[in-house]
Parts: sequence; C-alpha cells; structure tokens
Amino acid sequence: MILDGHPQSVNIVYQSIFTIFPLTMQHYHVVIIGAGPAGCATALAIVQMSVTKCLRVLIIDNADGSAYKAIGESLPAAARPTLSMLHPTMLSQFTQDTANGLHEMCTGNASAWASPDLHETYALLNPYGAGWHLDRTLFDGTLRKACSSMLCKGKFIAALIEWEVDVESEEQGNILTFRAQWLVDATGRRAVVASKIGAKMDKHLDLLSFYLVLHKSDIDHYQDSATSSKPTEDTDSRTLIESALSGWWYLARLPHDRRLIMYITTPSDPSARIARKVTGFMDMPSTAKFTQCTAAGSSVLHPYASWEPAPAAPGCSDAQGLGRGWCAIGDAALAFDPLSSQGIITALKAGALLGSLLANHFYGRDNPPVNPQKLDGEGVVRTISEAYEHVRIKYEEGRSYYYNVVSRFDPTDERGESDTKLRGGNFWVQQREFK
Ligand SMILES: Cc1cc2nc3c(=O)[nH]c(=O)nc-3n(C[C@H](O)[C@H](O)[C@H](O)COP(=O)(O)OP(=O)(O)OC[C@H]3O[C@@H](n4cnc5c(N)ncnc54)[C@H](O)[C@@H]3O)c2cc1C
Repeated sequence: MILDGHPQSVNIVYQSIFTIFPLTMQHYHVVIIGAGPAGCATALAIVQMSVTKCLRVLIIDNADGSAYKAIGESLPAAARPTLSMLHPTMLSQFTQDTANGLHEMCTGNASAWASPDLHETYALLNPYGAGWHLDRTLFDGTLRKACSSMLCKGKFIAALIEWEVDVESEEQGNILTFRAQWLVDATGRRAVVASKIGAKMDKHLDLLSFYLVLHKSDIDHYQDSATSSKPTEDTDSRTLIESALSGWWYLARLPHDRRLIMYITTPSDPSARIARKVTGFMDMPSTAKFTQCTAAGSSVLHPYASWEPAPAAPGCSDAQGLGRGWCAIGDAALAFDPLSSQGIITALKAGALLGSLLANHFYGRDNPPVNPQKLDGEGVVRTISEAYEHVRIKYEEGRSYYYNVVSRFDPTDERGESDTKLRGGNFWVQQREFK
C-alpha cells in the first residue's frame, strides 16, 4: 500500500474537517498540487498531448500571485523549445514581455571562480541565443494564466487513502475534497504531498542564500557617496559570479531598474552571521536592515514516484491496468544548488515529460492516429524515475567539478601546505569533501 505508514495526523485532520465542513467530492484523472513551473508544465503538457481527449486535470496552488519574487530568476535560453511545446503562444508572450522591458535579457556570464580573473561566456555564441533575467512573479503568473481553466486557489492539507485530497479553498473558505487517479507533487523544495505520503527527502549539504534587491535609487545613492561623481547607468546584463573566502557571490540585473545581489554560504560558516545584516553584507547604505535569507541546498526525494495496481475483482484475473499513482516533479523531486541555474528549466522539461507520459497512460498516443498501446502505471513511474536519476547524476558530476576547481582559498600552514584547521570557515573544503 502506498499510504501504509502515513502519519496518523493525516487522518485526524480528515476527521476534524469532516465534522466541521460538508465535503464536496469531485473526481479527476490527475490532481497536481503546486502551480510553479513544474506543476504548470505538467498540466500544459497533458493538455497538449491529449488534445482530442478530455482528461480531467486540476491544479491546486496557494501562491500569492502579487508578491514580489526576486530569486530563481535566471532562465537559460535552452528553455525556448520547451516553452514553445507547452503552449502555442507562450514563447512569443515572453519575447513580447521582454521587448516591453518586463523581463531582462541575459547577455552572458562573467565569473571569477577558479582564479581571480574574470572569464566570460557570451550569449552570442549560444545556439539558442540569450537567456533571461526574469521578473519571476510575472513569469510564474504567465504560466498560471495558461493553466487558468484547470486552476483552483487553495492550500493542500492532506492526501488520504484512495487519493482523496483535502484542500482549503481560498475563494470559498471551506474544505474541498477531490479524488484523483494520479497525484502530482509540484510543491517545490518542501515536497509537502510526497512527505505526507511517506517519501523521504534526502537533504544534501545545507546552504543558505542571503540576498538584497537594490533599486536604481539605492545604487545611485551608493555611487554618489562612494565616488561623488554622477551615477552611471546600470547596463551590465551579464550574470556575475565570484567565489569568495567562505562562499560565493551572484549578481544579476533584474527588470524594473533593480539588481539582485546574493551571497551563498553554509549555515555554520561565520560569514553567515555577518551576512544577515545589510551593514555586514555590504558596505552600502540602504533602507533595508536585514538581508533576506532562504535555504539553497540541494535535496533528492526517495522515491520520485510510485504506482499501486488496483486489486483484481473477484473472478477477474487482472484489474486491466487500473490503480493509482503519485509522482513528485520539479524541486519536490530534486532541488539544485543555485550555482547550476538549472531549477526552472529542469522543472519545465520534467513537467513536460510527465505530462506526456500521463496523457499516454490514460489514452495511448493520439497522433499518429491512435496508438492503443497505453503506458501502464509502472511504466510512468519507471520512465520519470530514470529521467530524474539521469539528471541527478549529471548535476552531481557538474557540482563536484565546479567546487573542486576552487582551491585558491585553501588555508595553508607555515610550510605552505594545506591545513584546514587554520581558518574558521572551511566552505570550499566542505563542498569538495561532500559526496
Ligand atoms: C536561492 C535560490 C536561487 C535560485 N536561482 C535560480 C536561478 O537563477 N535559475 C533557476 O532556474 N532556478 C533557480 N532556483 C531554483 C528555482 O527557483 C526552482 O528550481 C523552481 O522554482 C522550481 O519550480 P517548482 O515548480 O518545482 O517549485 P516552485 O517554484 O517552488 O513552486 C511550487 C508551488 O507550489 C505551491 N505550493 C506549495 N505548497 C503548497 C500547498 N500546501 N498547497 C498548494 N500549493 C502549494 C507554491 O505556492 C508554489 O506556487 C533558485 C533557488 C534558490 C533557493
């Protein structure tokens, strides 16, 4: 049983809700919790891949669509084909929004990483062209708008036996219950659905991200007081990355005359305490007193997905491929170190894959004509799990490579030999030793 061992509290929530609110039961093929890039991509791909059939898909999301979201803003140009595939007008919408200054283009990367010298890569040399520094609130809003007919504003509370999902409805203020054959956890790093079902989140080495968003007026003020010369325009559209003694820095120009400055380190590093306050974070006057801080380590879910075939009815040899399944997607399945800038594109691509697998699972392939060969539940689980394992292995190889090339901050003893005890913060040593 997939739900074997699920926490007792789930049932308690269910019983108390049941006594207070009348339950409205609606049935869906797929219920997706979370309408970030992963959840929206899954829903849109199901629609694209089953155009002639009507699969009942519901997305539940509790995001405040008007809240400003600064981080998670760098989208590589290689996302273009996936955006085009998910919705016929999605890419042209982003292109139009970018032309109107609502998103910024990213013209390349400049990094001082293994050495203090700046190394540049140019978007011009990328076959897909330039990537983006997104207005992340607008980006997520555009994806949600494309899914609006499937979207329900509310908060996931509990998943029960038979995939009944309890949701606190934002519009009606009551508890709604939906039943689904497939449940998709697209709730981001916390994987709230999968963890209630009993999947285990394997947290990798902890990282914290401290960040500030500066408006043009802050930057002008700083330039004024630092140089007493006339402020210059911020025209640098590159992503800038620089390794430091106990972590690394990330800078990007954002739309609407803003600039993101982010510092990544481990929670135990002494620099984490300093970075909490703006005065420590940077020697720059600002109206903000504290930097914002968020978890930024990587994590992997075990398992990524699961399927339970329905028991055969008495006298029948099988249940004809019926059953129920769940799958985690996006950060809920695999969350990356932000150094990779792979979070959004992976969420979009994995959602696109899961959506096409689920469409195939319910109806076989629509085109060409009709392929009666449907993918069974085990096939969905196997394919998505293999895809995520492939991504995980590539990501871990890449991460290990990039942290291993930084040795310029290694502490040395009097004989010039490396000695990790000589400095308080051993950020790079820890990152390299992490397997
Ligand atoms: C510091 C930092 C910097 C980053 N920078 C980048 C970057 O530059 N480029 C990049 O590509 N990626 C970056 N990322 C990662 C990127 O933001 C994520 O990979 C991406 O947002 C994952 O998308 P998702 O759809 O899986 O999850 P999310 O975007 O987290 O969406 C999850 C959705 O689920 C909803 N939800 C959660 N719980 C519930 C609930 N109980 N009920 C209903 N709805 C719920 C949330 O409201 C949200 O809408 C960064 C991450 C961090 C931490």
